[in-house]
Amino acid sequence: MASQEIERLTAALARLPGLGPRSARRAVLWLIKRREGALVELVEALGAVRAALVECGTCGNVDTTDPCGICADPRRDARALCVVEEVADLWALDRARLFTGRYHVLGGRLSALDGVRPEDLTIDRLLARVAAGGIDEVLLAMNATLEGQTTAHYIAERLEGLPVRVTQLAHGLPVGGELDYLDEGTLAQAIRARRPLG
Ligand SMILES: [Zn+2]
Repeated sequence: MASQEIERLTAALARLPGLGPRSARRAVLWLIKRREGALVELVEALGAVRAALVECGTCGNVDTTDPCGICADPRRDARALCVVEEVADLWALDRARLFTGRYHVLGGRLSALDGVRPEDLTIDRLLARVAAGGIDEVLLAMNATLEGQTTAHYIAERLEGLPVRVTQLAHGLPVGGELDYLDEGTLAQAIRARRPLG
Protein backbone atom coordinates (compact mmCIF):
# COMPACT_ATOMS: atom_id res chain seq x y z
CA MET A 1 0.00 0.00 0.00
CA ALA A 2 1.67 3.19 -1.19
CA SER A 3 1.68 6.31 0.93
CA GLN A 4 -0.61 9.22 0.18
CA GLU A 5 2.28 11.25 -1.29
CA ILE A 6 3.26 8.47 -3.68
CA GLU A 7 -0.38 7.94 -4.69
CA ARG A 8 -0.65 11.66 -5.39
CA LEU A 9 2.45 11.68 -7.59
CA THR A 10 1.25 8.59 -9.43
CA ALA A 11 -2.15 10.18 -10.07
CA ALA A 12 -0.53 13.39 -11.32
CA LEU A 13 1.75 11.52 -13.74
CA ALA A 14 -1.12 9.30 -14.91
CA ARG A 15 -2.87 12.42 -16.25
CA LEU A 16 0.01 13.20 -18.64
CA PRO A 17 -0.71 12.52 -22.33
CA GLY A 18 0.55 9.11 -23.33
CA LEU A 19 0.78 7.85 -19.76
CA GLY A 20 -1.81 5.90 -17.85
CA PRO A 21 -1.94 4.50 -14.32
CA ARG A 22 0.32 1.59 -15.14
CA SER A 23 3.09 3.66 -16.79
CA ALA A 24 2.76 6.28 -14.08
CA ARG A 25 3.33 3.67 -11.39
CA ARG A 26 6.40 2.37 -13.25
CA ALA A 27 7.76 5.93 -13.58
CA VAL A 28 7.21 6.59 -9.88
CA LEU A 29 9.02 3.39 -8.87
CA TRP A 30 11.84 4.30 -11.25
CA LEU A 31 12.11 7.76 -9.67
CA ILE A 32 11.99 6.43 -6.13
CA LYS A 33 14.97 4.21 -6.89
CA ARG A 34 16.83 7.29 -8.15
CA ARG A 35 15.64 9.72 -5.51
CA GLU A 36 19.06 11.39 -5.13
CA GLY A 37 19.61 11.74 -8.89
CA ALA A 38 16.82 11.71 -11.47
CA LEU A 39 14.14 12.68 -8.94
CA VAL A 40 16.05 15.77 -7.78
CA GLU A 41 16.72 16.71 -11.39
CA LEU A 42 13.03 16.37 -12.30
CA VAL A 43 11.89 18.43 -9.30
CA GLU A 44 14.36 21.18 -10.16
CA ALA A 45 13.52 21.19 -13.87
CA LEU A 46 9.77 21.35 -13.14
CA GLY A 47 10.29 24.16 -10.63
CA ALA A 48 12.44 26.14 -13.06
CA VAL A 49 9.89 25.83 -15.86
CA ARG A 50 7.05 26.71 -13.50
CA ALA A 51 8.92 29.83 -12.36
CA ALA A 52 10.00 30.95 -15.82
CA LEU A 53 6.88 30.44 -17.98
CA VAL A 54 5.06 33.48 -19.27
CA GLU A 55 2.43 34.01 -21.93
CA CYS A 56 3.60 36.19 -24.80
CA GLY A 57 1.57 39.38 -24.71
CA THR A 58 1.79 39.65 -28.50
CA CYS A 59 0.97 36.20 -29.85
CA GLY A 60 -0.16 34.12 -26.87
CA ASN A 61 2.67 31.59 -27.14
CA VAL A 62 4.07 30.21 -23.89
CA ASP A 63 7.76 30.80 -23.44
CA THR A 64 10.24 32.02 -20.85
CA THR A 65 10.30 35.56 -22.25
CA ASP A 66 7.66 38.14 -23.25
CA PRO A 67 7.73 38.81 -26.18
CA CYS A 68 8.40 35.16 -26.91
CA GLY A 69 11.40 33.86 -28.85
CA ILE A 70 9.41 33.77 -32.09
CA CYS A 71 8.00 37.31 -31.82
CA ALA A 72 11.43 38.64 -30.85
CA ASP A 73 13.29 36.87 -33.67
CA PRO A 74 14.26 39.47 -36.31
CA ARG A 75 14.75 36.72 -38.93
CA ARG A 76 11.03 35.99 -38.81
CA ASP A 77 8.86 37.47 -41.55
CA ALA A 78 6.68 40.02 -39.78
CA ARG A 79 4.43 40.29 -42.88
CA ALA A 80 2.99 36.79 -42.51
CA LEU A 81 0.83 35.81 -39.56
CA CYS A 82 -0.34 32.27 -38.86
CA VAL A 83 -3.43 31.94 -36.66
CA VAL A 84 -3.77 28.75 -34.60
CA GLU A 85 -6.20 27.46 -32.01
CA GLU A 86 -3.76 26.40 -29.31
CA VAL A 87 -0.12 26.75 -28.30
CA ALA A 88 0.32 23.04 -29.13
CA ASP A 89 -0.64 23.81 -32.76
CA LEU A 90 1.91 26.63 -32.91
CA TRP A 91 4.62 24.28 -31.71
CA ALA A 92 3.54 21.55 -34.15
CA LEU A 93 3.62 23.96 -37.11
CA ASP A 94 6.90 25.44 -36.04
CA ARG A 95 8.45 21.98 -35.85
CA ALA A 96 7.55 21.56 -39.52
CA ARG A 97 9.84 24.57 -40.15
CA LEU A 98 8.13 25.75 -43.32
CA PHE A 99 6.31 28.77 -41.99
CA THR A 100 8.75 31.57 -41.35
CA GLY A 101 6.34 34.25 -40.18
CA ARG A 102 4.83 34.91 -36.79
CA TYR A 103 1.85 33.44 -34.97
CA HIS A 104 -1.34 34.29 -33.19
CA VAL A 105 -2.86 31.88 -30.66
CA LEU A 106 -6.66 32.10 -30.33
CA GLY A 107 -6.88 30.12 -27.10
CA GLY A 108 -9.47 27.70 -28.47
CA ARG A 109 -12.14 27.45 -31.16
CA LEU A 110 -15.71 28.68 -31.46
CA SER A 111 -18.10 26.10 -30.11
CA ALA A 112 -21.82 26.37 -29.56
CA LEU A 113 -21.67 23.07 -27.71
CA ASP A 114 -19.04 24.22 -25.21
CA GLY A 115 -20.35 27.78 -25.10
CA VAL A 116 -17.17 29.32 -26.57
CA ARG A 117 -18.01 32.70 -28.10
CA PRO A 118 -15.83 35.06 -30.17
CA GLU A 119 -15.15 37.21 -27.11
CA ASP A 120 -13.73 34.16 -25.31
CA LEU A 121 -10.94 33.95 -27.90
CA THR A 122 -8.23 36.49 -28.76
CA ILE A 123 -9.98 37.51 -31.99
CA ASP A 124 -10.14 41.21 -31.09
CA ARG A 125 -6.42 41.19 -30.35
CA LEU A 126 -5.82 39.52 -33.73
CA LEU A 127 -7.88 42.17 -35.55
CA ALA A 128 -5.95 44.90 -33.75
CA ARG A 129 -2.64 43.34 -34.80
CA VAL A 130 -3.75 43.19 -38.43
CA ALA A 131 -5.29 46.67 -38.35
CA ALA A 132 -2.00 48.05 -37.02
CA GLY A 133 -0.55 47.27 -40.45
CA GLY A 134 2.64 45.66 -41.70
CA ILE A 135 0.95 42.29 -42.29
CA ASP A 136 0.31 41.00 -45.85
CA GLU A 137 -0.93 37.48 -45.25
CA VAL A 138 -3.04 35.87 -42.53
CA LEU A 139 -2.83 32.08 -42.70
CA LEU A 140 -5.75 30.50 -40.83
CA ALA A 141 -4.35 27.21 -39.58
CA MET A 142 -7.36 25.85 -37.76
CA ASN A 143 -7.90 22.16 -37.19
CA ALA A 144 -9.83 20.30 -39.91
CA THR A 145 -12.77 19.90 -37.58
CA LEU A 146 -16.23 21.43 -37.91
CA GLU A 147 -15.52 23.86 -35.08
CA GLY A 148 -12.08 24.71 -36.46
CA GLN A 149 -13.51 25.50 -39.87
CA THR A 150 -16.39 27.51 -38.39
CA THR A 151 -13.80 29.54 -36.51
CA ALA A 152 -11.72 30.07 -39.67
CA HIS A 153 -14.74 31.34 -41.60
CA TYR A 154 -15.80 33.62 -38.78
CA ILE A 155 -12.32 35.18 -38.62
CA ALA A 156 -12.15 35.50 -42.41
CA GLU A 157 -15.40 37.48 -42.29
CA ARG A 158 -14.08 39.73 -39.54
CA LEU A 159 -10.92 40.35 -41.60
CA GLU A 160 -12.90 41.47 -44.63
CA GLY A 161 -12.04 45.03 -45.59
CA LEU A 162 -8.57 44.84 -44.10
CA PRO A 163 -5.76 44.90 -46.66
CA VAL A 164 -4.52 41.33 -46.13
CA ARG A 165 -4.56 38.10 -48.08
CA VAL A 166 -6.38 35.43 -46.08
CA THR A 167 -5.24 31.84 -46.72
CA GLN A 168 -5.82 28.50 -45.08
CA LEU A 169 -3.97 25.22 -44.84
CA ALA A 170 -4.49 22.87 -47.77
CA HIS A 171 -6.72 20.23 -46.37
CA GLY A 172 -5.07 17.14 -47.53
CA LEU A 173 -5.39 17.08 -43.76
CA PRO A 174 -7.54 14.18 -42.68
CA VAL A 175 -11.10 15.29 -41.84
CA GLY A 176 -11.32 15.74 -38.10
CA GLY A 177 -7.55 15.99 -38.08
CA GLU A 178 -5.90 17.91 -35.29
CA LEU A 179 -2.65 19.60 -36.20
CA ASP A 180 -0.85 18.47 -33.10
CA TYR A 181 -1.24 14.82 -34.13
CA LEU A 182 -0.05 15.14 -37.71
CA ASP A 183 3.40 14.16 -38.80
CA GLU A 184 5.68 16.96 -39.88
CA GLY A 185 5.65 15.95 -43.57
CA THR A 186 1.86 16.25 -43.78
CA LEU A 187 1.95 19.58 -41.98
CA ALA A 188 4.71 20.90 -44.20
CA GLN A 189 2.70 19.88 -47.26
CA ALA A 190 -0.40 21.63 -45.90
CA ILE A 191 1.56 24.84 -45.38
CA ARG A 192 3.24 24.70 -48.77
CA ALA A 193 -0.06 24.16 -50.60
CA ARG A 194 -2.00 26.74 -48.63
CA ARG A 195 -4.74 28.47 -50.56
CA PRO A 196 -7.02 31.47 -50.38
CA LEU A 197 -9.93 30.97 -48.04
CA GLY A 198 -13.12 30.86 -50.11
ZN1 LIG B 1 5.00 35.78 -29.19
